Amino acid sequence: MSEQIGVTGLATMGANLARNLARHGHHVVVHNRTKAKTDALMGAHGEDGDLVPVESLEDLVGALERPRKVIIMVAAGDPTDAVIEAIAPLLDEGDVLVDGGNARYTDTIRRTAELGERGLHFVGAGISGGEEGALDGPSIMPGGSAEAYAVIGPLLEDISAHVDGEPCCTHVGTDGAGHFVKMVHNGIEYADMQLIAEAYDLLRQGLGMSPAEIGDVFATWNEGDLQSYLIEITAEVLRHTDERTGKPFVDVVLDEAEQKGTGRWTVQSALDLGTPVSGIAEAVFARALSGHVDQRAAAQKVLPGPGRDWDDQVADREAFTESVRQALYAAKVVAYSQGFDQIARGAEEHGWDVDRGALAAIWRDGCIIRAAFLDRVRQVFTDEPDLTTLLTNEYFRDAVADAQEGWRQVVAGAARHGVPAPGFASALAYYDGLRAERSPAALIQGLRDRFGSHTYKRVDAEGSFHTMWSEDRREVEA
Ligand code: NDP
Repeated sequence: MSEQIGVTGLATMGANLARNLARHGHHVVVHNRTKAKTDALMGAHGEDGDLVPVESLEDLVGALERPRKVIIMVAAGDPTDAVIEAIAPLLDEGDVLVDGGNARYTDTIRRTAELGERGLHFVGAGISGGEEGALDGPSIMPGGSAEAYAVIGPLLEDISAHVDGEPCCTHVGTDGAGHFVKMVHNGIEYADMQLIAEAYDLLRQGLGMSPAEIGDVFATWNEGDLQSYLIEITAEVLRHTDERTGKPFVDVVLDEAEQKGTGRWTVQSALDLGTPVSGIAEAVFARALSGHVDQRAAAQKVLPGPGRDWDDQVADREAFTESVRQALYAAKVVAYSQGFDQIARGAEEHGWDVDRGALAAIWRDGCIIRAAFLDRVRQVFTDEPDLTTLLTNEYFRDAVADAQEGWRQVVAGAARHGVPAPGFASALAYYDGLRAERSPAALIQGLRDRFGSHTYKRVDAEGSFHTMWSEDRREVEA
């Protein structure tokens, strides 16, 4: 298969995606607002394949046969709108415009509708894998119409990562579905990294291990059911020594985590959908806390900790390490389960037909959260497409149950010794909240009725009720 395609926006992602397309034998017309980036790409990698540089969007459009296919890889937000506004008038009915940036899914819904009115197909495609993935095969999550996918899908599948011959690219759903699931993917990525960081912190503080030693532990974990890209690169980063000082690299990096916004968007959307994604939320808030330098500096001086050493819990180093592994595994399953819940809820809200099994399949490679474990998730959702929560599936139920003893010990130990482990702890609270036969929400309903006459339902009768709290405490039907 050899197709024609245009790519506009040749920073890291766009340049690598263009090279990936060219390496797959496609005819790729490349453009960037500032010519220097086009020249840099052609100078360094012009030999990668059939790359044709142009200086204007008019030339880009003019160099392609209809239906034209153009991928926009520019900064999300206003820049994307600016490029769409500039290129849309040059295109003809049936042409396909793909936005491969990290757009907010609501923007994608708006753009799809606006461009649809002009007869153009718009495909908001989530692309994950960073610069290496863009070049060697990312995981691609395209939204848009089925007609648009028929035109662009084969090309995107061709350049995506593959697992056992299957592309890590599938039509996720209409309009903003692709960017929605990419957003949640990034949210899960936040949660996964937070949990990894907590595991590292506990091994360091609890066992006094060096970063390199902890890197070795992660490398061993990467051979088991935690096997994943993030665990693999954790070992690499922890084992790395700073060139300048000879210290462990992780010790010379400022401990303030940054964010570009997709984690925050995931939580904002989850709040609107009423889906508890506590793992992702804790990760976003932990990053925010890390950045509150003044507050941290003030608190470090005056807030006392428990003043207890770790001797009791860490006497058996192997057992403690295994408990931390169990906590990481169990909390990770919870975080992924919550992320898939959000996808199901978002799909329901927006009328997207999202197949969670197919999504897990395209996350098995190419993307940042790629992991062996997603093969199992894919199997579960394929076998049980209507599964209410991943946690009740027999395999994950048993796996988490097996890990729960270590998980509980680690959460209790972290609390007793004053080590923050919000991801581990909130995942456990969620797990216990899910399995609780009676939730204290009954009391909350009682309080709401008491102060605001908000009414409540009864366990033994249909309808809504209100108690006349300020009078004789009679119950009346509301
Ligand atoms: P950047 O997000 O840094 O964006 C730079 C590119 O946007 C340049 O080509 C720049 O052109 C162009 N641009 C900015 N404003 C305008 C404008 N008003 N009109 C035209 N072009 C404009 O590039 P990346 O390669 O890092 O990312 C591209 C997209 O992919 C982003 O949406 C990003 O969120 C997403 N993404 C990035 C990943 C990553 O790992 N970096 C991973 C997955 C997705 P110029 O050279 O002229 O300034």
